[in-house]
Amino acid sequence: MNLYDIPVTQVQGVKGKKAQELLALGLDTVGRLLDHYPFRYEDYTLRDWSDVKDGDKITVQGTIVGVPQLQMYGRTKSRMTCKVVVDPLFITAVWFNRHYLKDKLRTGEEIVLTGKWDQRRLQLNVTEVEFPGQGPSRTGTLQPVYSITAGLTQKWMRQTMSQALAQFSAAIAEVLPPELTQKYKLPPRRSAVTLLHLPGNVEQGKLARRRMVYEELFLFQLKMQAYRALNRSRADGVAHPVDLPAVRAFVRALPFRLTDSQKKVLAEILHDLQQPYCMNRLLQGDVGSGKTVVAAAALFAVVKAGYQGALMVPTEILAEQHKRSLDRLMEPYGIQTALLTGSLTDRQRRETLGAIQMGLVDIVVGTHALIQEDVFFRQLGLVVTDEQHRFGVQQRSVLRRKGMNPDVLTMTATPIPRTLAITAFGDMDVSTLRELPQGRKPIKTYAVAHSMLDRVIGFIRRETAAGRQAYVICPLIEESDKLDVQNAIDVHAQLQFALPECRVGLLHGRMHPSEKDEVMRDFSEGRLHVLVSTTVIEVGVDVPNATLMVVYDADRFGLSQLHQLRGRVGRGEHQSYCVLIADPKSETGKERMKAMTETNDGFEIARRDLELRGPGDFFGTKQSGLPEFKLADPAADFEQMELARDDAAELVQRPDFWTAPVYAPLREFLQREHIFDNELLD
Ligand code: ADP
Ligand code: MG
Repeated sequence: MNLYDIPVTQVQGVKGKKAQELLALGLDTVGRLLDHYPFRYEDYTLRDWSDVKDGDKITVQGTIVGVPQLQMYGRTKSRMTCKVVVDPLFITAVWFNRHYLKDKLRTGEEIVLTGKWDQRRLQLNVTEVEFPGQGPSRTGTLQPVYSITAGLTQKWMRQTMSQALAQFSAAIAEVLPPELTQKYKLPPRRSAVTLLHLPGNVEQGKLARRRMVYEELFLFQLKMQAYRALNRSRADGVAHPVDLPAVRAFVRALPFRLTDSQKKVLAEILHDLQQPYCMNRLLQGDVGSGKTVVAAAALFAVVKAGYQGALMVPTEILAEQHKRSLDRLMEPYGIQTALLTGSLTDRQRRETLGAIQMGLVDIVVGTHALIQEDVFFRQLGLVVTDEQHRFGVQQRSVLRRKGMNPDVLTMTATPIPRTLAITAFGDMDVSTLRELPQGRKPIKTYAVAHSMLDRVIGFIRRETAAGRQAYVICPLIEESDKLDVQNAIDVHAQLQFALPECRVGLLHGRMHPSEKDEVMRDFSEGRLHVLVSTTVIEVGVDVPNATLMVVYDADRFGLSQLHQLRGRVGRGEHQSYCVLIADPKSETGKERMKAMTETNDGFEIARRDLELRGPGDFFGTKQSGLPEFKLADPAADFEQMELARDDAAELVQRPDFWTAPVYAPLREFLQREHIFDNELLD
């Protein structure tokens, strides 16, 4: 009997309107209903006075010693008090608008009271009563609280869960193999599910939760690991014949020596390129750690092997910049690059597309336009994406439909805290750049109040007089692109006035792409001294001569974003500075400024950012890439997640995992999750 095939209406008492309400919650089968765990519990365990504090919600048992005193206010409103001894205290129980209880309060009887404790008056504001020995009792238990619709009540939901368990708990099957339940001393699934809904006491509730959290994390990781294992065994990628001596020569010809980190990561990538499976690798590293040149070497290797490469970036400005730096690197080898962005004219686009299709172009740099339906490569071997979110299912299947199955390298602009990486990127191999190139001076960071603006402008003047350049990021007004632009225009005018000897440029999101590129080019080639910009500048821009980053309203930016902004400077030989103008009274701002001035380490910043904002906000809501868990919290349950990952990875490596009967439930789970379905495998 599979509970996920049994309609929820098979539970006694679930019909009509109530059944509709459950459907609205997505609880259409008994299996799903039982998977709808409470999000918290009401605690009816009996307390003694030793650990009760004023304002606590408590449940106590005592003896009625007085006669109830009732005051009516009109026909329905009332206040009733009654003296009760809860050993050793003599307390006053208070009820509002519950005068119908009066006749039940008989001197000498035992009573269980739940309510809020008022220590000063020795008074309990009662929300619930029970009389011991009269009917079923919740005293001493935890009562589950579910997320429900307005058409349902907690009481009905509790009853329905109990009923469902009474009818169907025998059919709750184990999914975890015995080796794992034994390893972690986990209760069987059946009793864990039962205890989550009907916990006897706190201890049992905790044990049940631990079991289900592990199961949830394990199944999630199993999916990831099975997916990886299958991707590898399917071997439908390109095994590029990498010309290692040529790549080595390419690296030697660079104007600098690769860091050890860069060498190691490049070796990992080159290894993947030579394998017959599709590379699915994440390259993460702090800003300025030199990801681009690693990607360039990988693209070089693929081109030398006879394939084409693509570099996908989030903005046109970045596309332009990468195109220019790739040209510098690739020209000596006769490698052809092309730009494919939304701002090409129809004719330019047609010509570029033709050249790509005929294989006249080796490396294409562009925004998302790059993998649209009308772009055909002759032989695409590697896609590199330089952006925060990953190369998604859809993008892969667009390529696959065109008969291409390239290796994919995803570079992140923000280091992902270890605690999230194995959740968000569980299906990928991860390469990390752990060091910055030698000789970089740490950026000096200062947090100042807006009243110091004159001194900040003086600072800009000094840096530009010394031949350096400065960025000024404008005040941010949430959800108002228009006001942000206005702010940028204002700040630009103000700085032009205050710094007559400087050429001050302006960059914002409402400018035409070609205007933006022109401004950006002027700045990167030194024709502008100061660049006033909205956050469009944020990712990836590389102007080594820029040494000063000024951020207005720094308290309104997330930590990772501030770190990204700061990473625009400190890319050359000169000492660089970051000045954060923040409201000294903003609490969140204070935390962030503290973190920014204390550390330059992107991984540390990311960790603190996660702490301050939680996993959902860390990625931003839109592209979180984080799966939703019912019970587990990917950040807080990180250690469990690591164990689950190792267990899952180990299991899918074992040949008997794919055949032994004991793993059948896990294989069925993978089947249900479409892991074996080719199209969805991405
Ligand atoms: P990010 O990882 O932030 O994308 P970039 O790839 O833009 O960093 O590199 C930052 C700067 O450091 C660039 O100007 C790049 O040329 C330079 N760079 C990269 N690797 C090295 C190295 N090993 N030694 C010195 N400079 C390097
Ligand atoms: Mg970069």
